[in-house]
Amino acid sequence: MSGSCLDLRQYQDSADMSAIIGKLVSGKSGYKAVIEKKKEVIKCKQCGKILEGTEKFCPECGNKVK
Ligand SMILES: [Zn+2]
Repeated sequence: MSGSCLDLRQYQDSADMSAIIGKLVSGKSGYKAVIEKKKEVIKCKQCGKILEGTEKFCPECGNKVK
């Protein structure tokens, strides 16, 4: 019976932690900018269409990507 009480406390602890981490992350204005800067735009070399990066062939002109 004491075991279920312990589980509940652990759950509350982790919920508090994620809330605190979420506040810290959203509070940093530069955090998201760094992630967006890291994401590079992939374009088709032939027609210049912006790709998601998962395609092997350009959906616009069929040119092989990479
Ligand atoms: Zn293309």
